Amino acid sequence: MYELNDKIKNLEPYEPISGTYQIRLDANECPVNLPDEVRREFAARLQEIAFNRYPDPMAGRLVDSFAEYYNIKPTLVTAGNGSDELIFLVESAFMQKGDKMLVVSPDFSMYNFYSSICEVQSASFLKGDSLEIDVDALIRTINRDKIDLVIFSNPCNPTGKGITRAEAEKLVSSVEALVILDEAYMDFWTESLLDKIEDYSNLIIFRTASKLVGAAALRLGFAVANPAISKAIKAVKSPYNVNSVSQAFGEVIYRQKETLKNRQKMIVNNKEMLYNGLVELCGARNDCTVYSSVANFVFMKTGCSREIWEYLKRQSIVVRLMGEYLRITAGTAEEVNAVLRALGAFFER
Ligand SMILES: *Cc1c(COP(=O)(O)O)cnc(C)c1O
Repeated sequence: MYELNDKIKNLEPYEPISGTYQIRLDANECPVNLPDEVRREFAARLQEIAFNRYPDPMAGRLVDSFAEYYNIKPTLVTAGNGSDELIFLVESAFMQKGDKMLVVSPDFSMYNFYSSICEVQSASFLKGDSLEIDVDALIRTINRDKIDLVIFSNPCNPTGKGITRAEAEKLVSSVEALVILDEAYMDFWTESLLDKIEDYSNLIIFRTASKLVGAAALRLGFAVANPAISKAIKAVKSPYNVNSVSQAFGEVIYRQKETLKNRQKMIVNNKEMLYNGLVELCGARNDCTVYSSVANFVFMKTGCSREIWEYLKRQSIVVRLMGEYLRITAGTAEEVNAVLRALGAFFER
């Protein structure tokens, strides 16, 4: 009788919230679909795909388009089947038995999930009540505990806080550990380290098409690193990890500079509106803290998180419940108004 091993026997498949809701503010997605003209261009590109052939293993045209959009060298970029694939790949390949990984907590839960599958030792560096990262303390911990790999999101999911370029550079240049900056939300802020990637021998940056770019359906993520690290990532990835349809569509999307710029402005505006509205509703209550955010969502702490979550869900609005916290994605202006109205009604009861 075959028995599952200890590390997987109690795992449950990932299930996002089920059911259909009018307003989805739970997954930090882009609230609007791609414009019609872009989708028409997809239709044309679909006609050109050789479905009988394996995809380009290096996703050359997609990577060129991504690199041009971010003004970096395409040779430093590896495409993945979502950044999720790249997180798993980098954690498993760049760590070996006995190595130590550090995560910063709270942060994206997948970092620890994948390390547990790789049977890698993982420690947590805890943020204080402000949810800001104390970079000097983080550097001391990494060096004192001889950490081999540190990974965190900047800006952070779920807190919405970020460290500046100067702080990120100080970190990378003060440790020997491999530093992985997950910049999934950096399209909403200004502190990317992408342009500095070649200055460091110990830095990998992840980007994704799932948030600002609004292509979560395609599963496109990117790892950016110096040539030596990029070569290693390309060597360990599975050869045909990004399918031809996602490659072709992604190539089209990263050429839509105007669309992406307008969308960025719209989402950042709506996030400010959401933040200001939440502060207005909750600011005077002592059981409630709203955190300022440089991402496309707002994080808040409240004594009645579950009651709020359930109340909103009954009105067909879903947000993310995380213990005593709620994370609310900035949707369209209408969606932001709707969630603020519903919250106002909740607090008035
Ligand atoms: C959403 C998100 C991603 C993106 O993952 P994909 O697999 O590219 O969709 C990566 N990191 C963080 C922290 C995220 O919140």
